[in-house]
Amino acid sequence: MEDCIFCKIVAGKIPGEKVYETPEILAFLDIAPANHGHTLVIPKKHFETIFDIPDELLKNIAVKLKHIGNAVMKATGAEGANVIINNKKAAGQIVPHAHFHIIPRFTADGHEWWQGKKYPNGKMSEVAKKIKKALD
Ligand code: 5GP
Ligand code: ZN
Repeated sequence: MEDCIFCKIVAGKIPGEKVYETPEILAFLDIAPANHGHTLVIPKKHFETIFDIPDELLKNIAVKLKHIGNAVMKATGAEGANVIINNKKAAGQIVPHAHFHIIPRFTADGHEWWQGKKYPNGKMSEVAKKIKKALD
């Protein structure tokens, strides 16, 4: 993908603060970190979202997320970490090259999670039924 900023980092066309790589995976620091040490883990090959990544590669990324996440926590002294992926614009994805955020977290770092919504009567089982059907 010629216009993709993360493909350019993989190709060395623009700089990236790389912390780990394998032939198929790259980890580098986010340029605008939620907390210092905020790391992005990507497949080197271009896929838009997690849902587009082939199963075998996704399994390999999951194992590396554990390894890199442990290292990020150790290096930053974090008390916790969020591992998140935004898929598509509606979910906050800005860079359309699948990437996993590893965000080191501290008890009083001020980041807030979203508020939980409520299900009206009967809606929860209706939604569950639809998801189960989609999984068939
Ligand atoms: P998204 O919202 O797509 O899940 O997150 C994209 C992330 O990529 C953001 O946290 C942003 O700071 C980071 N980012 C955007 N452009 C660059 C860049 O050129 N270099 C690096 N290292 N990170 C970037
Ligand atoms: Zn790309």
